[in-house]
Amino acid sequence: MRKKDSFLKKIRRIALAAGFLLLAFLCGLAFLPAPEGIPVLEYHMVADTSPEDGWAYNVPPEDFRDQLDYLREEGYTAISMLDYMKAKKGKAELPPRPVILTFDDGYESNYTTLLPILESYGMKATVYMVTNDIGLPGYLTWDELRDMQERGIEIGSHTANHQPLTEMDRSRQEEEMRLSKLLLEWNGIHTVFSFSYPNGAYDSGMPELLAQNGYLTAVTGDAGLNTFQTDPYLLQRINIPHPRFGRMEFRLRLFKAAVMTRLGIRQH
Ligand SMILES: [Zn+2]
Repeated sequence: MRKKDSFLKKIRRIALAAGFLLLAFLCGLAFLPAPEGIPVLEYHMVADTSPEDGWAYNVPPEDFRDQLDYLREEGYTAISMLDYMKAKKGKAELPPRPVILTFDDGYESNYTTLLPILESYGMKATVYMVTNDIGLPGYLTWDELRDMQERGIEIGSHTANHQPLTEMDRSRQEEEMRLSKLLLEWNGIHTVFSFSYPNGAYDSGMPELLAQNGYLTAVTGDAGLNTFQTDPYLLQRINIPHPRFGRMEFRLRLFKAAVMTRLGIRQH
């Protein structure tokens, strides 16, 4: 009996010490200056579907508005991926706290639900299209895309077929990059400079392939913040799936990316 008591005491002491260490670590992080870097948020759709319907990546409109409220309260200004590249090349000035909102896959709710919310906040976004899905049920149409562009949304490519590029040879990878860009531009979309890797999957040869095909940036699914020193073809993003814990979860996701960047950790 006595043996068991002393064992429990030992466990309690270890747990307490670990708790103190964690607290000291978090306090230390809080007192360090904020890490330099632009958060790029990775969304899929803003709509009233639930994860139980199979849409683990949808963010309900009221949560999305709350996230925009938070960004506004924190002094963030939404810019497009192209704004970031122009500033990197010295051709534009960035606002004091830029944030980039990105949307993958091209769902129709980007037009019906997301766009009016963005406009009411005076914010912009970059939308990455899978070109072979354009016009299919539930996806954006060409008319909607052109209208979104007129209203300040940047259109990028998310390939033609949304297949993982890492499972293809170089010539097929190149085809996915080149044909999706051409199709968008042939249909009235401004020159496409921005790319998003399907499932965030990339390898070391893809940045050069993207550069050869006229792209200036590409976003991954790796969590972190970006500076002008970040490889523009390996930009990091903060994934924002269906929130289960409201604004706290959103803040924690931003915080985690900042911590990873500060510690120099890159998860691929
Ligand atoms: Zn996707």
